Amino acid sequence: MTTPPPQPYSDPFDGTPVNVPPAFHVMLKPRGAICNLDCAYCYFLSKELLYPGSRFRMANELLENYTRQYIAAQRGPEVTFAWQGGEPTLMGLDFFRRAVALQHKYRRPGLRIHNALQTNATNLDDDWCRFFREHNFLIGVSLDGPQVLHDTYRVDKGGKPTFDRVMAGVELLRRHSVPFNILTTVHAVNAAAPLGVYRFLRDTVGTNFIQFIPIVERDNATGFQEGERVTLRSVTSEQYGAFLIAIFEEWVRHDVGHVFVQIFDVALAAWSGLRPGLCIFEETCGAALALEHNGDVYSCDHYVEPNHRLGNIQDIPLIDMVGSAQQQRFGQAKRDLLPQYCRECAVRFVCNGGCPKDRTLTAPDGEPGLNYLCGGYKAFFTHIDGPMRWMARELRERRPPANIMHYIAAAEAELQRRFARAGRNDPCPCGGGQKFKRCHGRAS
Ligand code: SF4
Ligand code: SF4
Repeated sequence: MTTPPPQPYSDPFDGTPVNVPPAFHVMLKPRGAICNLDCAYCYFLSKELLYPGSRFRMANELLENYTRQYIAAQRGPEVTFAWQGGEPTLMGLDFFRRAVALQHKYRRPGLRIHNALQTNATNLDDDWCRFFREHNFLIGVSLDGPQVLHDTYRVDKGGKPTFDRVMAGVELLRRHSVPFNILTTVHAVNAAAPLGVYRFLRDTVGTNFIQFIPIVERDNATGFQEGERVTLRSVTSEQYGAFLIAIFEEWVRHDVGHVFVQIFDVALAAWSGLRPGLCIFEETCGAALALEHNGDVYSCDHYVEPNHRLGNIQDIPLIDMVGSAQQQRFGQAKRDLLPQYCRECAVRFVCNGGCPKDRTLTAPDGEPGLNYLCGGYKAFFTHIDGPMRWMARELRERRPPANIMHYIAAAEAELQRRFARAGRNDPCPCGGGQKFKRCHGRAS
């Protein structure tokens, strides 16, 4: 499974041939790093220091310039504007009304335009939700689980908890029928309660789309991706693997086809021979850039730092920066610097060494560049191999992967029947190799 090579393409403004990936997207940060919250693990708040004296507001002319260039650069039938921060709603609703009007102004016939906005949801009101609904915004809400887990790190500038305000925002979204998904970071504290987190999101929040993002936070003074130490807030590799496995075991019995967990979808794509569709598990990266409030473009949202600044859209066409040699080097380094240990790994086809920002370890043979989460990834991807093969086969044969829930239920019911019939000295029906009385028969 390889990433298609960049396609030759002519710059829409000056006709210069450049190489751009078949699809790319840009995280838009119209208020830069400015946020009304002060989440302890946020990697972006420190980016404020890159722009001393700035008002951190994207100007109207810049918004128009970007909208025009971004739409012109798209070769596919649809385009997504991805709004992020900081907290993008701090730009105010009028900014987004202008954004949508500009999208209409530059839209080509037949081009579908989507908007996705990631928010902490504490700023939302009826006006915001009516606007989101009217313009089909897909909203991502940051929520770390039940109250005590969420409030561990997600606090406001005064250090006060935010859970109630987030849930009020979620309720507003629901009342206005705005589609939303939940982004949950997995950190040192909530990692200990996988089922508590998952069932809360599924049953109390009522979401069908969940992304889990592991917190791997470098412990340094710069806020850049450098140094090998990570903070104590970071999830450990073992915790992350165990967290995903516990949730997978629940999901594969009850929720396949009903609740969509991003990393499970990515895995099923990989087991089906498709591309993962998520940059961290692609073989190369470089197709997910970031745009700061002043027009500066960076290689990636996680590399908003001087060495990875590609230029400013007011000086250099966006398409040139996307296709630049610097950006290609950035994306290909993910594959080219992969340690031999990963190249020989049985789950490389789905993992691809993970995100370069998390590659803080040395491999057992001493080669640098191993992912901090390697142990967790390996445990998780190995654990799900059987069910993933099963679901991938169903997909190939045009049957719903959700059939696996019936298969598991039937297999487990049969096992219970065999337990009921087993004698104390019989081999345990679970196949573990011990006598029943020393294995599953121990309690009886
Ligand atoms: S550095 Fe990581 S987050 Fe950024 S594009 Fe590459 S894989 Fe994705
Ligand atoms: S599981 Fe570990 S060794 Fe295997 S590809 Fe991923 S990071 Fe590399």
